Amino acid sequence: MLSIRNLGVRIDNKPILQGINLEVAAGEVHAIMGPNGSGKSTLAQTLAGHPDYQVSQGQVLYQGKDLLSLNVEQRAAAGIFLAFQYPVEIPGVSNIQFLKSALNCQRKLRGESELDALDFLTDVKQKMQQMQMDEALLYRGTNEGFSGGEKKSNEILQLLVLQPQLAILDETDSGLDIDALKRVAAGVNAFRSPDRALILVTHYQRLLQYLVPDRVHVLQNGRIIRSGGAELALELERQGYAPPADPRAEQP
Ligand code: ADP
Ligand code: MG
Ligand code: MG
Repeated sequence: MLSIRNLGVRIDNKPILQGINLEVAAGEVHAIMGPNGSGKSTLAQTLAGHPDYQVSQGQVLYQGKDLLSLNVEQRAAAGIFLAFQYPVEIPGVSNIQFLKSALNCQRKLRGESELDALDFLTDVKQKMQQMQMDEALLYRGTNEGFSGGEKKSNEILQLLVLQPQLAILDETDSGLDIDALKRVAAGVNAFRSPDRALILVTHYQRLLQYLVPDRVHVLQNGRIIRSGGAELALELERQGYAPPADPRAEQP
């Protein structure tokens, strides 16, 4: 699905990511963890095609094709979805209009016909019920004045409506209370399937209790310094990102 090879990324000519290698197969869930400022969002934004992030070296293949040669719209049409760490508010465009035009835009780029309006509404409402979201949110400006939890749920609603092949969720768990976290995790689990892949960017192990990853990678200073299975997240939770120099010095 995704193959990142020796990727280097700069912002304003300052190197942020260096020598990133990552292989994500269909059906897999990969967690990217790491301290603040380590480059997690930079990796997510680069994959989504944000123009401020300059690729200085390396290659990214998505379904065998050169991802970096595609613009943001082409990437979305090819089935890549990014849930932002800080979801954008779009005043004046209702949530329902936003979802509908995003979906129709994607369908158009794929050469598919527009969705029937009633089918679309039924589908969205059913997914909102699944996420225990208030239907009133459909008719408000996209994310406008939404609470932190509502914004994060709305990102997952977009995910469920757009049904991408590769989803990148950037700290979708941060700032959620435990019930909201469980709803978000349930929504994401409903999205999981053998032909889709997921990259979860997170600070904490908490989400990963409900959404068990196949692989965990630790990003530090723009490099992947460790990779492992789901157990690595638990270890990080106990020890922090910098393991103690002397293992006997571990706290009880
Ligand atoms: P993380 O998501 O792991 O907290 P980021 O990818 O947001 O880390 O940031 C990595 C580094 O890149 C930080 O030092 C941050 O200040 C810098 N950075 C990110 N975005 C920009 C930007 N638009 N302009 C300048 N520096 C940036
Ligand atoms: Mg951060
Ligand atoms: Mg970030």
